[in-house]
Amino acid sequence: MFRWGQEEADAASRVILSGSLFRIKSKFNEVTNFEKELKAKIGVEHCVCVNSGTGAITAGLAALGVGPGDEVIMPGYTFIATAGAVLALGAIPVICEIDETLTMDPIDVEKKVSKHTKAIIPVDIQGFPCDMDRLTALSKKYKFAILEDACQADGGSYKGKRLGSFGEIGTFSFNWYKIISAGEGGAMVTNDINLYQRAIIFHDIGSNFWPYEEKITEPSFNGRNFRVSEVTGAILREQLKRLDGILADLRRVKKTIMDAISGFARFAPSNDINGDCGVMMALRFGTVEEAIKAEEVIGTNRPINTGKHVYCNWPNVMEKRGAHCESANPYKYEANKGLNMDFGPKSLPNTLDILARTVYMPMNPDWDSAKIDEKIKLIKSAYNK
Ligand SMILES: *Cc1c(COP(=O)(O)O)cnc(C)c1O
Repeated sequence: MFRWGQEEADAASRVILSGSLFRIKSKFNEVTNFEKELKAKIGVEHCVCVNSGTGAITAGLAALGVGPGDEVIMPGYTFIATAGAVLALGAIPVICEIDETLTMDPIDVEKKVSKHTKAIIPVDIQGFPCDMDRLTALSKKYKFAILEDACQADGGSYKGKRLGSFGEIGTFSFNWYKIISAGEGGAMVTNDINLYQRAIIFHDIGSNFWPYEEKITEPSFNGRNFRVSEVTGAILREQLKRLDGILADLRRVKKTIMDAISGFARFAPSNDINGDCGVMMALRFGTVEEAIKAEEVIGTNRPINTGKHVYCNWPNVMEKRGAHCESANPYKYEANKGLNMDFGPKSLPNTLDILARTVYMPMNPDWDSAKIDEKIKLIKSAYNK
């Protein structure tokens, strides 16, 4: 979360004082209005607001009918939640390489596609847009669905279209570390009315009797409870008003710094620098030793050391602990026999190499010119050493 203040406080207190905190039949329809405003912003037809990004991915995969017997391909550089959502539905996460852009490598996706591939999950990590043209072409060729994990890329875009609007389903997170936030929160978007209805059913423990914005005609099935309160909805509506301003300032700050150091610095290439959210500057080095030296001078870190964002630090996948008890562990399911699940810490050498040769510097939309100059000097000193 970058910006918050009186507006969020007023919105939350208005809801609390009204005594109307439940989203169904509420006085102000904060959650429903947030869904309307978010789908207009992203340019899609349907939206379900949920409790988290993980909830959004899980509901999206459930809407797609993902379950035992299915493989879902995702990059080995994403938050562990992406894999966790797949396992939670009894399917198997297949991890693939990233390329120099730090996002899903379409070449490795094509190598890992099998007759069991039900969906792929491109991840716009750190707000870097994925190569949606090539991934969309693959989805048409091999007939799998795309669920975009745009949890770190609220409001970002690719070739002028918002991230989350390319695949069958797009997902966002509003936890504290994301671009906009209500402390916790998430959303799932789609242009498909059936997927929307199935996500509504799944996120509300199989209910299709509440009066949601659109009448639910899909047959009910058991689900989870991923609903959010009106307080979350009210805060998110204020946050959404700030989104484009935050993105514009992040992009301006990042561009100013990149322009000042482009004579000597090398950057991770971008699939679309104009759509990049600007939350992170990624410096690229020729060797791991050079990257470690620069990291020490700049005082930030390398993505290889970002813990649960790197697949080798996902014990549930590396050690095949896919559920709370063995009989519910997807790695043991009869239906999953023969699927691609033989992953170890060294399975993705390119990913590990690229992450180790990258140095991050987080951006802030509210840096003034003195602060920006300070950052430029710091990066310069790293290259002088
Ligand atoms: C944050 C994040 C999630 C999960 O979001 P939560 O709201 O924390 O559940 C999923 N995928 C990625 C890439 C994320 O960064």
